[in-house]
Amino acid sequence: MHTINIKEAEVRTREARLGSITGFAGTAAELTGCSRAGTLKDSDRSFSQCMGCSSGNAFCQLSMITDACVVNHAPIGCAGDFFTFNFVYRVGQMERGLPPAIGRYFNTNIEENDTIFGAVRKLEDTIRTAARKVQPKAIFITTSCASGIIGDDVEGVANELSDELGIPVVACFCEGFKSKIWTTGFDAAYHAVVRRIVKPPEKKSNKINIINFWGSHIFDELLQELGYEAEYIMPFSTVAQLERIAEAAATIQICPTLGTYLGAALEQVYGVPEIKSPPAYGIAGTDQWLRELGRVLGREAAVEKIIRRERERIMPALEAYREKLQGKTAYLTAGAAHGHSLIALLRELRMEVQGAAIFHHDPIYDNGEPGSDALAQAVQTYGDVPNYNVCNKQAYELVNILNRVRPDIMIARHGGMTLWGAKLGIPTLLIGDEQFSFGYQGLLNYAERILETLDNREFVTNLARRSTMPYTKWWLAQNPFSFLRSDLNVKVY
Ligand code: SF4
Repeated sequence: MHTINIKEAEVRTREARLGSITGFAGTAAELTGCSRAGTLKDSDRSFSQCMGCSSGNAFCQLSMITDACVVNHAPIGCAGDFFTFNFVYRVGQMERGLPPAIGRYFNTNIEENDTIFGAVRKLEDTIRTAARKVQPKAIFITTSCASGIIGDDVEGVANELSDELGIPVVACFCEGFKSKIWTTGFDAAYHAVVRRIVKPPEKKSNKINIINFWGSHIFDELLQELGYEAEYIMPFSTVAQLERIAEAAATIQICPTLGTYLGAALEQVYGVPEIKSPPAYGIAGTDQWLRELGRVLGREAAVEKIIRRERERIMPALEAYREKLQGKTAYLTAGAAHGHSLIALLRELRMEVQGAAIFHHDPIYDNGEPGSDALAQAVQTYGDVPNYNVCNKQAYELVNILNRVRPDIMIARHGGMTLWGAKLGIPTLLIGDEQFSFGYQGLLNYAERILETLDNREFVTNLARRSTMPYTKWWLAQNPFSFLRSDLNVKVY
């Protein structure tokens, strides 16, 4: 399977490249079965609320390269997320003990006249202004629906301005209208970095690339013990660091939804092996992931020692948590791969997963390896999950299902989703840091946070009593999938 072509200026969307979907209702086993059999079909919605945008996800990664800047070639409204990422940038810096700085973001302010006469001049002027004001080591241009529809020659401008300014000026094609799967934007950002920033390796280093967001540095000790050094990419990397990532000994993904493209690109283009096992969540998943890491690094014996030692260390505490959590019910909403990982984690804690609303589904990743499928691994290890809904943040479906299943706890990975559980009086836990629940220690971390949330019911009970729902009783009595065209006979528990 060849999904990587860095000679092309644009990366193909996930729908076209991987056959990914945003609409499904059934069980997790039905979904993984269709994915393996090549019979997966997207189910359209005849009604849709808000969605994310590829441009925002591309920006999410490019905006935190510390000595680069981003020029968003778009109407000013598309820059609405600058604020959010500036905030995340500062929080991530504090967590990593980095000196405080703000993001360096520019927008070309495409207006009505520009959509008729073109906005190339505005783009050139903005790039020159950005170069003069912040002296970046590289400039990334993120495109938008407007720049894509009017057909501005963004690649031509990027090449000309690279020559003029003497730094890489890189076009990242991430127009929101092209894909319903906003994680296509991650792929676009990584494509831009691999094709214009990363240099061919001159030597091999002892670094391990860790494709992650801005979470905690949990890999330092583990990799040191194995004789390697962690290189967290891309938030808070410098351009010089990114130039050298093809020299790394391997690539780890904290979440294949984020890093499927970059992991595969570094392996296929530069021979950096990717750890293809699903990320280490739950005991069985962590054992398997560590063994794969040991195999790729040639450190099998050291890894077996770590597995024995860590299992012994966490087991008494894990058993105590399992006793407290046994039979408690949970409903989950998250992005794809991290959602799959959390299913494994909750099952490992002996909790019952009553269902999940997961933002999209990739039937295969760019590495073409069926063994990378974390959902299939979770189903195989712990059994099926009912009420498995692929749902790109359609709150009306989520609220309807939550109201029916009424779990003991709702788990969310994204801030905007937690209020729906709270409004229904359901204790809701939000954890944005994927690393927090990674590995053996992650099980204990997560269990503790779940217990804290369950102990604090009063807050959501009061909130539910005093808040109103925008959805009517009529809607809550309907089948939650009334607007989803599905071939499966959907049963809601
Ligand atoms: S979907 Fe299009 S118009 Fe909306 S924010 Fe994204 S790029 Fe801008």
